[in-house]
Amino acid sequence: MSLDLIILGSSAATPTRERNLSSIALRYRNQIILFDCGEDFQRRFAEAGLKFNKPLMIFISHFHGDHIIGLPGFLFRLSLNERTAPLSVFGPRNLFLYLYTHYKILGLKAKYPIKIVEIDYTTGELIEFEGLESETPKTTSKITDKIIFDTKYFSMKFALVDHSVITYAYSFIEKPRPGKFNPERVRELAIPESHLWSKLQEGQMVEFNGKEIDPNKEGIVGPKRPGRKITYSGDLRPTKSLIDLGKNSDILIHEATFAVKLAEIAKEKKHSTSTDAAMDAKEMNAKQLILTHISTRYQEDALKLLEEAKEIFPNTILAEDLLKIELK
Ligand SMILES: [Zn+2]
Ligand SMILES: [Zn+2]
Repeated sequence: MSLDLIILGSSAATPTRERNLSSIALRYRNQIILFDCGEDFQRRFAEAGLKFNKPLMIFISHFHGDHIIGLPGFLFRLSLNERTAPLSVFGPRNLFLYLYTHYKILGLKAKYPIKIVEIDYTTGELIEFEGLESETPKTTSKITDKIIFDTKYFSMKFALVDHSVITYAYSFIEKPRPGKFNPERVRELAIPESHLWSKLQEGQMVEFNGKEIDPNKEGIVGPKRPGRKITYSGDLRPTKSLIDLGKNSDILIHEATFAVKLAEIAKEKKHSTSTDAAMDAKEMNAKQLILTHISTRYQEDALKLLEEAKEIFPNTILAEDLLKIELK
């Protein structure tokens, strides 16, 4: 099943001609997962060819303008589009209040199913609101093992990280995938092409001619393949919780606001340098690192950040708006 990642914004604090504010999209199984909604990210969303009427999940890392101001504008656009697909938005406490204010003052409406889920790290709870109009949460549930969303195919986890306001990092964790499908073997067993094939392909037992067929034992599917994992850091100082969350990620998308030379400022402003990001990638045993949240001071020489990071973690690339990466 294809999984790809598209950078919709890679600038810190201020947009530039080349770089929009923070936003990253994942495309997986007919749905879109977004990390952060920097101002005007909807323009890149459209440019990337992403569809406005797909099931969508949005994960907000923190309430700094460069990560959230694009969300209401996007929701206004969705309401014009006669969207029908469901949407859920996850983020820190007060996320509902933020959107509710837009409903109250600007008349923001959603005719499609919308859920707003606040993550409270202090109580370890998820507080879920349905629609924009009711201030009373629909449900409250306990978070176990940092899992904030779980389905048959993947789960989402969060970690509290060290920044100047409450900030969460997130991981997309795909569940182990069925092994490689061997159609020849199915033909040998004389099973006609039918719904049974798709079940076998998913690694499920089927009954055929009164016999139970186990696709694993019959050599119809190969050994299970590990799922893929993508971690997004949000803004942060290097934090152990991010390492734990992101262990063995295929891709780590990490902020790198400053070059090493400005390490003191990075510390003061609770941000990371290029080498902080590289060290985090190395420590969590990530396969690839993407540096993002690039300060406008590196408009001309962002490659410097890349070179610094590569000295520690060679498989590093620099985020560019509309950069697309497919995970095999
Ligand atoms: Zn930021
Ligand atoms: Zn921030």
